Amino acid sequence: MSSSRCLIQESKPRDACGVFGIFGPGEDVSRLTYFGLFALQHRGQESAGIAVSDGREMTLYREMGLVFQVFDEETLSRLQGDLAIGHTRYSTSGTSSLVNAQPMVAEWRGGKIALAHNGNLVNALELRRELEAEGTSFAASSDSEVMLLMVAREADRQGSVEKGVAACMPRWRGAYSLTILTEDSVMAVRDPYGVRPLCIGRLNGQAIVFASESCALNVIGSEFLREVDPGELVVADKDGMRAQQVLRSPRQALCVFEYIYMARPDSEIGGRLVHEARRRLGRQVAKDHPVEGDVVIPVPDTGWPAAIGYAEESGVPFGEGLIKNRYIPRTFIQPDQRLRELGVRIKLNPLREALQGRRVVMVDDSIVRGTTKRRIVRMIREQGAREVHVRISAPPYRWPCYYGVDTSNRSELIAARCSTVEEIREAIGADSLGYQSVAGMLKGLRVPRRKLCLACFTGRYPIPIPKDVKLSKLDLEESAWREGEEEAKTNAPAASPTETPA
Ligand code: SF4
Repeated sequence: MSSSRCLIQESKPRDACGVFGIFGPGEDVSRLTYFGLFALQHRGQESAGIAVSDGREMTLYREMGLVFQVFDEETLSRLQGDLAIGHTRYSTSGTSSLVNAQPMVAEWRGGKIALAHNGNLVNALELRRELEAEGTSFAASSDSEVMLLMVAREADRQGSVEKGVAACMPRWRGAYSLTILTEDSVMAVRDPYGVRPLCIGRLNGQAIVFASESCALNVIGSEFLREVDPGELVVADKDGMRAQQVLRSPRQALCVFEYIYMARPDSEIGGRLVHEARRRLGRQVAKDHPVEGDVVIPVPDTGWPAAIGYAEESGVPFGEGLIKNRYIPRTFIQPDQRLRELGVRIKLNPLREALQGRRVVMVDDSIVRGTTKRRIVRMIREQGAREVHVRISAPPYRWPCYYGVDTSNRSELIAARCSTVEEIREAIGADSLGYQSVAGMLKGLRVPRRKLCLACFTGRYPIPIPKDVKLSKLDLEESAWREGEEEAKTNAPAASPTETPA
């Protein structure tokens, strides 16, 4: 395959959302939710919303845009209450439109339910058809609405939202970290594989807070208590906090990309500070792919910790060679292709003094499609660099994600389009290219393989994907599909894991 075929329009993986929730009588819950969402802005930039309850009435406000664009003093002052949930969205299921913005609200016979979802169900279509056959009509096109309407139906049948959620969990297949609001309680729910993070904090000794990442707890001054366990349903209400283990899974499958790229570096996931995990990944790639260089530079911002680790391990001095315009939001989250193209061009500016006449080692966390890397390598050469060596702290990204990260179709991934690392090197125009191996990544992270989802590197999906859903993102020629099947078989565990009611 020629290297030109390997290159198409660049895009980083995009996460599917940030969720937040607070049960805090006496606290300014809408403002706290606003600041929590602000801390989770990196997880989704298309829309934001807050649903609040004063114990009797629920009020919702959601709009397209960034958190600070959606809310102002006036909108926040209309959201009065003691408990709230919030959401920032990037669409991986359903279109990018207000109708799919979250939280979403539905009615059951006891009142209202609001739901905020991070992740992706792989059996959403099947569940939606089932609801439609029973006469349920849908306003939106996302899997989150399917979950909400299922909860409403089950709440009617079971007599409470808590029981309704527990009844739905065994039927949901895929990734879900949820916050749910009723008039008098806030719930946090995590799928039995724990694909997306979700944690619990306490504020001012009393209020219970739920958030996708611990950085959102820190920002509002709450103390980190623990993570929501995979398969767990946690409820905060006037009686305090209670938890039930609704589902057990034979294995966990936290998305490894949370450590590599998605989560904020100041968040803690699985007891590990994300910044430290990324630094260790950089150290590991330096051990496995050493190169003679004069300066190690990061691709800002997410390549920083790995580049620091690489410099520490290799002894090559760390320097800044690319300056990021800090006033541009993370362009890859913009859903529109044309805007993304513009964003890449204005985002990074090279620092000639740091690059001229040097052998540059450029460190980043991933190569998804390859176009941006080629542009950056060329830009560094134009500043007079003698050599440009690229080191990637993750393994080659070959398989699409079905669990809530928008990685595009397989045919768009450079590591799937090119058959060798040498071809990718040629396509991006670097003097050398070194990827982390899966074994090196696990060594660097110090997380056991059985606790992680590594599917975008291995093609082995821990939660089975229905064939039609799988094929929707596998539009390479049939041989590639077969190759994936073979790889999945080779890596398959002795018994396929299935979640079971606890
Ligand atoms: S497939 Fe990749 S991006 Fe998706 S959950 Fe698994 S590791 Fe994360």
